[in-house]
Amino acid sequence: MMSSNSTEYYVIAVGPCSECGGTGQVQNPEWTDFYKKYQEELETLHRYTPHESISRWNKMTEDFFGTLDTPPETYECYECEGTGKIERRVPLAEALAALAVREVAP
Ligand SMILES: [Zn+2]
Repeated sequence: MMSSNSTEYYVIAVGPCSECGGTGQVQNPEWTDFYKKYQEELETLHRYTPHESISRWNKMTEDFFGTLDTPPETYECYECEGTGKIERRVPLAEALAALAVREVAP
């Protein structure tokens, strides 16, 4: 009796990471700002020749980042380390209760 009272049981619950929505990648906030700032100009890029639109793109990124060597657009999610999934330890009783609720649902 003593040992069953002192032993706790857990299961590992695996679900999608809420930070990255399960993709494993998060957008670099600098790029989010870039797209916000140049939204209108970016929408007109298709009107130009490929060569002209590339040079306009390069000018925008260089003006914004101060270099053509731009930072990565996305990072590996720090929350799930790029797996897109989060594991958490759940007490067995809680897991069984969660499963029981699902079983009786129509
Ligand atoms: Zn994540």
